[in-house]
Amino acid sequence: MKQTELEVTTLVFLGQYDGPCPHCAFHLKKPQSIYCSECGGGLVLSLEKPFRCTSWLLFAFGLIASLGVCIDQAGLFFAAKLYQGSPLVWKWVLPELIFIFVLFVGLFFWWKLRHWSQSRGVVWRRVIGLIGVLMPIIWFNVLFWLFIFTL
Ligand SMILES: [Zn+2]
Repeated sequence: MKQTELEVTTLVFLGQYDGPCPHCAFHLKKPQSIYCSECGGGLVLSLEKPFRCTSWLLFAFGLIASLGVCIDQAGLFFAAKLYQGSPLVWKWVLPELIFIFVLFVGLFFWWKLRHWSQSRGVVWRRVIGLIGVLMPIIWFNVLFWLFIFTL
């Protein structure tokens, strides 16, 4: 069987490798195969981009966590109807459903703005990231006070 260029390069690298298997953490010392001798997991040499917590990612987190807050709150109203027979109060449920829709649309557009957000200056990136982190708290308070003022 002919080896690919990547397999040959990986074998050259593994010839000097002394460390854990990325699959099972078995200690590999200069393995002679591109498969772990313990678990059989494939060993591939690759370049990976290290994880970076970007302002875009923090804002996306904020949108997704806010969606979770809205779905949770709306779910409570539906659960109350289901388990206690409480009437569904649309003046409480409707804002939740509208916010869920707005957040989904926002998430779609935020996905499209990834390159734009990452090309902002450092101050704007920090503002975007901070808004993202605070967004679920803000959404929760908007929903909570809307509920309180319409009791
Ligand atoms: Zn292994």
